[in-house]
Amino acid sequence: MGGLKQDYWQNYVDGNWVDGGAGRLTVENPGTGEPLAEIALADAADIDRAVKAALACHESGVLSSMRPVERGRMVRGMGDYLLANREEIAEMLTLESGKPYWEALVETDGAARYFEYYGNQAETVEGRSIPLGGDYLDFTIYEPFGVSAQIIPWNYPLEMTARGISAALATANACVVKTPELDPISNIWLARAAEAVGLPKGALNILCGLGHEAGAALSSHPDIGNIVFTGSVETGIRVATAAAANVKPAILELGGKSAAIIMPDADLDAVMDSVRWGIYFNAGQVCSAMSRVIAHEDVHDEIVDRCVALAESLSVGPGIERREFGANMGAMVSDPQRDRAEGLVEAAAAEGATVATGGRRLNLPGSFLAPTVISGVTPDMQIAGTEVFGPVLSVLKTGSEDEAINIANSTEYGLVGGIFTADIDAAHRAARRIRAGQIFINEWYAGGVETPFGGYGKSGYGREKGREALWNYVQTKNIAYRTR
Ligand code: NAD
Repeated sequence: MGGLKQDYWQNYVDGNWVDGGAGRLTVENPGTGEPLAEIALADAADIDRAVKAALACHESGVLSSMRPVERGRMVRGMGDYLLANREEIAEMLTLESGKPYWEALVETDGAARYFEYYGNQAETVEGRSIPLGGDYLDFTIYEPFGVSAQIIPWNYPLEMTARGISAALATANACVVKTPELDPISNIWLARAAEAVGLPKGALNILCGLGHEAGAALSSHPDIGNIVFTGSVETGIRVATAAAANVKPAILELGGKSAAIIMPDADLDAVMDSVRWGIYFNAGQVCSAMSRVIAHEDVHDEIVDRCVALAESLSVGPGIERREFGANMGAMVSDPQRDRAEGLVEAAAAEGATVATGGRRLNLPGSFLAPTVISGVTPDMQIAGTEVFGPVLSVLKTGSEDEAINIANSTEYGLVGGIFTADIDAAHRAARRIRAGQIFINEWYAGGVETPFGGYGKSGYGREKGREALWNYVQTKNIAYRTR
């Protein structure tokens, strides 16, 4: 394997580069609409081989008997490998996903950061001793599940895989990764990273395959230890149901329709900075996007005007031409995703909302949607509760803090939420009352790899990131000893 320009990429199973039982899949460049390369397509038999290889690696004890500090160094080394190859990886990520090159660099660095963080955590997973009196010595230890199955979405293909496997490997689980079929190629560098640091054979297996075939085979495999799924609610329910049939725990990171409440005393410059990142970064294809703004009537009109000006200031076009950090946006991941977003905007207009700017595809080859602002959205409209997963901001008007919180809580999701205000009491009232796994006060996306992330309601269960995520990957064993 080698070189960015190769036109065929293989899967990585049991330390070998292999073809796929289901043939090959053509990956497109959404920035041009042209084919980019082919990748091996795994079938259920390939998944079975990968799970068996991972299980053999686990059962050999090679990961769990390693001193944690050594395992941690390997995990950190994978991040170093990504950083050493960041331009090459980002180039591929841009070509296959459509995001601007500089955003792909941000994602590559973010992926490396997960390996740094969880590599450092490897030696911190400590048990404890529980006093049982007199003749007993009791202790609790944490053991890996064995094989961690990971099903990855296309919006941050590299970072989502890094997020799962860094924590899984740090806690001595072997991994089988099913990459997203729209942009699977950048994940190849994770397999290369495993080779570079000398990860044992079978510890990391990376396969591209279709969801209903390879994904379904992985989630229903009896030999996996746990499954971590990031993606849509519909697929998440399927994956968790398949895992439950084998009594395997699932971690679900699903969608969102997250709201920022803007109070009259908010710093509107800070609000606009958060809008820029919150809804236009990665063309809004972010599960925790700020897809709703609930603006107090005193600042509503100014917010709408400033959001429109912001959206119109972004230069939109092929990510590979957008090398530098700045006011620009790339393609969406595919035509169907762009068409779906465009359709949701049209439906909002038909229900009486105002498309204040954007809402239309660009007259360019590739999957482009203009940065969009919809005002006059009311909680009963479809757009108010449906995840668009595109660069589409819905603005709702409110007269009070109470009403704003009720609107924020009016969807079936609960991934993140936020409030912008100078009133610390109002901020904390909202933080307690918004039903979501993470609350941002005065800055959307405040936090980092260190802060736990995951949903309430249909946004899922379990937590990624932070120390919390480590507990996804270990099972508790208590050992009670009666002294003689
Ligand atoms: P998706 O659910 O269609 O696909 C996700 C993954 O599941 C893909 O790898 C796909 O191949 C696989 N899959 C599809 N059908 C399957 C099946 N029957 N069994 C097993 N696997 C199957 O989602 P998507 O379109 O890739 O991603 C967009 C969605 O993901 C959005 O709704 C977004 O909110 C959500 N998302 C959530 C997070 C998070 O962390 N909460 C992160 C990224 C994306």
